[in-house]
Parts: sequence; structure tokens; C-alpha cells
Amino acid sequence: SGAPARVIAAAGHFGHLVNEPLHNLPAPVHQLLSRCLQQRSSLFEQGLALYFPTDSQRGLAAYLELQRPLQETDQHLLQVFCSSMSAGFDNVMLYSRMNEQTYTDPLLRIPNMNQLLEWLRDPQLVRDGHTLAIVDLDDFAAINDTLGHTFGDELLQAVYQRLQEHMSGCLLARIGSDIFALLGPEEHITPEILTELFSSAFPVGQQPVRLSATSGLVQLNGRCANGSEILKDAHLVLKQTKLTQRGSANYFSPKLGQQARERMRLMTALREAFNQTQLFLMYQPKIDLRNGKTSGFEALLRWRSNEGDMIPPDRFIPLAEKSGLIIALGYFVLRQACACLFRLRQQGHNNLTMAINVSQVQLRETDFVEQLQQIVQESQVPAEAIELEITESVAAEDFNFLVQRLNEIRALGFGIAIDDFGTGFSSLGVLRHLPATRLKIDRVFINEMHSDDSIARMVISLGHSLAMQITAEGVETAEQQQKLQQLGCDEGQGWLYAPALAEKDLSGWLQQHG
Ligand code: C2E
Ligand code: CA
Ligand code: CA
Repeated sequence: SGAPARVIAAAGHFGHLVNEPLHNLPAPVHQLLSRCLQQRSSLFEQGLALYFPTDSQRGLAAYLELQRPLQETDQHLLQVFCSSMSAGFDNVMLYSRMNEQTYTDPLLRIPNMNQLLEWLRDPQLVRDGHTLAIVDLDDFAAINDTLGHTFGDELLQAVYQRLQEHMSGCLLARIGSDIFALLGPEEHITPEILTELFSSAFPVGQQPVRLSATSGLVQLNGRCANGSEILKDAHLVLKQTKLTQRGSANYFSPKLGQQARERMRLMTALREAFNQTQLFLMYQPKIDLRNGKTSGFEALLRWRSNEGDMIPPDRFIPLAEKSGLIIALGYFVLRQACACLFRLRQQGHNNLTMAINVSQVQLRETDFVEQLQQIVQESQVPAEAIELEITESVAAEDFNFLVQRLNEIRALGFGIAIDDFGTGFSSLGVLRHLPATRLKIDRVFINEMHSDDSIARMVISLGHSLAMQITAEGVETAEQQQKLQQLGCDEGQGWLYAPALAEKDLSGWLQQHG
């Protein structure tokens, strides 16, 4: 069936006939083979035509010239030979189909991750002047969930078609549910070209769909052909770009790789530090601006490495948040700070508050509220003496959850302070819905007060109108203090009064400023 039969192999004086259609063979040969294929059986005549049945539509036949007719036993042996050869052919076909499945994406029928890894093993492709890009569709999972998988599949088709059309000089693969890979000449694969591809809508369903993508690019110049390394670099720059510049495309740089390794190193060290108690708390006094007395302390985490270096929390807290270590670390901080407050109260300092920083990751833990309650009970300190500091930058989709959480915490008696107020993106409207008891004006606004005090002024009156207390962070000069007092700010914290102190120095401090 289909195209006419062709010669796929030949030897001897038939050697030149490879690829020729059957009818170009010498007439007797042609006729015998045709009959053999039609009858689907071997023919033992002047010449010998062996028939090999296969699973596929068309059979295979072989022609042999004979010097003399074959004996019957030889004929039987040849029949057996043919059927075992047939089984072999079927295996070959099966293998090539499996091969195809291994290297093909089932939805789009284009190369998949396995194929990409093969390409990346090929020095012809991984060479100077070539670029690998991985293109990750933004929010694809959400689209799939809300508009359905059929729609999602169509959208992938449309993206594929656009890539196919505009990136014709490149190899294209789909290497994840919503990730494509492109490999080709560097002038064809640039951040500008990739971003441009997603600047217009995709024709899917009733109305065109807008979709952005984030891409990571690796220039393959002078690299050894190690496919998984190259892919790792591409994923690294993709991840980094997703975090900070969603919807755009960036090249991998050795510096980026270096930073990633550095973060890994620090993360490992942090886990060890936590186990070896190189982590401890210091306490920065908070001053009541009406009478100059200490109203409480803020617990600040410190890490002194084995080598004696101090590693600032701004460096390791984000890492701990990303890795989940912040959960355990956060409970450690809560326990330590409560224990410190308990000891201060034992010394008769009964009106002090303890402010404790709590990260968003901790707040989202299912049993955070229960744990919190248990910790204050075990520490024998009143919840009213504890103030949790949270940063205002809250993702909008989490907002309802956050408000509910904070209400539960508030109901237990804890105070809630909005930290670094003014630097996040929460609007004033959002603030109204947060059950906060305090606003902490970020120190950048205290710093600029000598030239412009409008923000400090605004935050103080806003907070007061919502019945919140106001704390100024990073008070460093007497002028700032004076100004804040004039504006009616309740509390000040900063190097003008004291840096964070070790616990052993707190009673001495309180003797002078209690
Ligand atoms: P933050 O909560 O805004 O803490 C205030 C930071 O300002 C502290 O830095 C403090 O040492 C510093 N500071 C205090 N007074 C002054 C001043 O007069 N001038 C200047 N320039 N800085 C001042 P630190 O201790 O390095 O903490 C940095 C950040 O790390 C904190 O910012 C907080 O976001 C985070 N952090 C610290 N401890 C913890 C913790 O236990 N848990 C969590 N989740 N985050 C923490
Ligand atoms: Ca704080
Ligand atoms: Ca702060």
C-alpha cells in the first residue's frame, strides 16, 4: 500500500540499485518480487524470493540469485530463518517507535527534555556563538486551573506556533508543562527578541489571550559541552528573573552562579549555626518619648560564626525564609525572647514589653497561633507584654488570610506592630483592615526628616487616627528626637539611645533608664 516498493539494500552486481523503485529492476527479478509481496509468501523458483512478514502494513522481501534449485530441507530452514528475521524487524520498528516516544512531547509532537539533553551533548550545537534559552510561561498553572485544561493545551499550541514561526533558525523543545527551550545562533535568541514574542496576544478561544513569559539565556561560548550544567545555569537565571523581573529575559553570568554558590554555602553554615547555638538574641531598648524611660526591647537575632564574624540578619533571614528554616528559627527566637522577658520581670521590671520580629512565612504556618500560645504559657509571660512585628509587604491574595490570622493573635492579647512602615506597597486603605496596635516608621523617613518631615508627620497622624501607637526607628540624633516629640510620636528606638544589647547588660541599662 502507499508508495511503490523500493530497494532498501542490495549487494553484488545489484549493488547500484539501492533506492530504486521495484519496476527499475531487471524484469524477472521485478516480477518475482512483486508476486512474493502480493502472495505474502516465499517463492522458491529460478531465483529465490524470501518473504518477511512484519507488523507494519507492508512486508519485506529479499531476492537471491541461485546457481541451482534448493533442496527441500534447505527450503524449510530458510522459512524458519525468515520468520525469526521478521521478529527481529518488528523489534526494530518497536524500538524506533519507543525512541520516538522517548524524545517527543506527546501534546505538541515536538522534541522534549530528553531530546534537548541529547542536543546539549552535541558539540556541533553547543559551540561558540550559540545560545540556549528556556522560556517559562508566567501564571500558566492559574490559567489552566481557571479556564480548563483544553484551553491550556490550546494556549500551549498557540505559543508553540508563534515560537515556530518567529524562531525558525532555532531548535525548539518543550521541556516542562509550561517551559520551552530554544537552541540556536546567538543573534536569533536574545532577551529583546524573546520579550517581543510575547508582546501581542495569542489567538485562543473566543478572545485573544495575553500571556507573558520569563526567560533565562545561556551563551554557550567556550563552555565544555556539559548539558546538565548548562541547563542548571539557565534555570538559575530563570528563577532569579522570575523573582525580580517577571516577564522579562536575562543572560546567565558567572557572577550569578557565584552568588548562588555563596547562598548555598551560607545556607549550610546557617543550619550548622542553628544546631551549634551560634545564634543568639540581642535586645535594643525602645524609649517612651514623653518621659525618656525604657518602655521595652526589640529582640534582634545575631549570628556569630565560628570564625568570630558577625553575619547580619538582613543576609541570613531571607535565606532562612526561602528554605523553611525560619519556622524552627522563629520558634527559637520566640522562646528565647519570652525567657528573657520572664527574667526581667523576676527582677521587678513588670511594665516592659518585648517586641519580636515574625516573618510572613512563620505567620502562614498552620499551627502558628497554637504554638505561640503554648510558648507564652510555658514561659509564664503575659501575651499583653509581647508585641509581634510584621512587615507590611503582604501579597494581595494572602490578605484575607492575614487579617484573620492577626485577629486571632490579637484576640489572645498580643500586640501587633507593622514594621518598616512606608517602605512596602500596602495602601492606606489596607492598613485600616489590619488589627495592628502599633506602626513603626521606617528609618529612611526618620533619616530624611531634617529636610522633609512630611512622611513622618503623615504616618504619626494616620496611626493616631486609627488608634495605633507610633514608634520611630533608627533615631540617631537629638534633633530627630526633638522633632518626633513635637509631632507627637510615642516611642523612639535607635543608636541615639542604644544599639542592641546583650542580655547581661539589660539590668544595668534599666537601672539608668528604667
Ligand atoms: P528591623 O526589624 O527593622 O530591625 C531594626 C534594624 O535597625 C536592626 O538591624 C537594628 O540593629 C538597626 N538599627 C537600630 N537602631 C538603628 C539606628 O539608629 N541606625 C541604624 N542605621 N540602624 C539601626 P538588624 O539587627 O541588622 O536587623 C535587620 C533586620 O533583620 C530587622 O530589621 C529584621 O527585619 C530582621 N530580623 C532581625 N532579627 C529577626 C528575627 O528574630 N526574626 C525575623 N523574622 N527577622 C529578624
Ligand atoms: Ca523589627
Ligand atoms: Ca524595622
